[in-house]
Amino acid sequence: MPISVVTGGAGFLGSHLTDRLLKEGHQVLAIDNLITGNERNLDHLNGNAKFRFLRHDVTQFIAVEGSVDFVFHFASPASPIDYLELPIQTLKVGSLGTHNALGLAKVKGAKFLLASTSECYGDPLVHPQKEDYWGNVNPIGPRGVYDEAKRFAEAMTMAYHRYHGVDTKIVRIFNTYGPRMRLRDGRVVPAFIGQALKGEPLTIFGDGKQTRSFCYVSDLIDGIYRLSQADFHEPVNIGNPLELTILEFAERIRNLTGTKSEMVRKPLPVDDPQQRRPDITRAEKLLGWEPKVALEDGLRETIRWFQTNLDSPARK
Ligand code: UDP
Repeated sequence: MPISVVTGGAGFLGSHLTDRLLKEGHQVLAIDNLITGNERNLDHLNGNAKFRFLRHDVTQFIAVEGSVDFVFHFASPASPIDYLELPIQTLKVGSLGTHNALGLAKVKGAKFLLASTSECYGDPLVHPQKEDYWGNVNPIGPRGVYDEAKRFAEAMTMAYHRYHGVDTKIVRIFNTYGPRMRLRDGRVVPAFIGQALKGEPLTIFGDGKQTRSFCYVSDLIDGIYRLSQADFHEPVNIGNPLELTILEFAERIRNLTGTKSEMVRKPLPVDDPQQRRPDITRAEKLLGWEPKVALEDGLRETIRWFQTNLDSPARK
């Protein structure tokens, strides 16, 4: 039975990945310092003998006893608000945390998968984004703490692959949504759904003409699981190529929730990318993967989840 370590295991993606790995017959050790993760995301695994949780900050040495077959490095603040509030932690987990997670993989002879990001492309000048595009990132802007940490993490991962021969993989994750997102993490999906359900105005940043492409979490996790099994070491985009403006997206949320919420304009955050859509040709060819869940279906599921979790005091 394979043994996997998932850093950031109590987060949105880390907890869904943990569920998938357990389903695939892995034993899982989830590690999280809970600064943006939430133990509630793992509550349903209490009593599962194949699952363990360790509260630990992976920027410190990661000590794990026994053998490990896979290290999935998912620990990081991941919403613009979070990394603006936690700039040093974001830089540290992408750099020191990635170094420690790679060191763990090396000493255990484990495979390693890095959760990287479409933010590596910055405010892209090439559209849609292919993996061979080097990006347009402002290193000293407010988003630079996340973008550059992840770019460093990719460089460190390739160095461990080339120099130490560690079997590494890199996934570049595009905007993803689904149950277990934090209501107040500032990202557009929980923000709009929360506002719509409470009858508050939907906050459109800038003119709302900037675009994003939203992938449902089960599709994303399936792509990541497939990549973990593949013999490929360069980055692979995983995301949904359906591209919408933020205004169009707000309209979808209004229709699906039936809210009477108006829209209000707020200033566009600094360096907010104008357009984003993954080119997923590489994932299609290499992994036989493409997203399956239609936006309406995924959003319905997510809205249903937020309806039952909206007022939960434990949900940050
Ligand atoms: N956005 C918005 N209103 C909000 C939150 C976000 O208009 O309440 C916009 C934001 O400016 C960006 C897009 O939605 O253009 C996606 O933002 P998010 O924070 O979800 O993630 P990003 O893709 O920027 O990392």
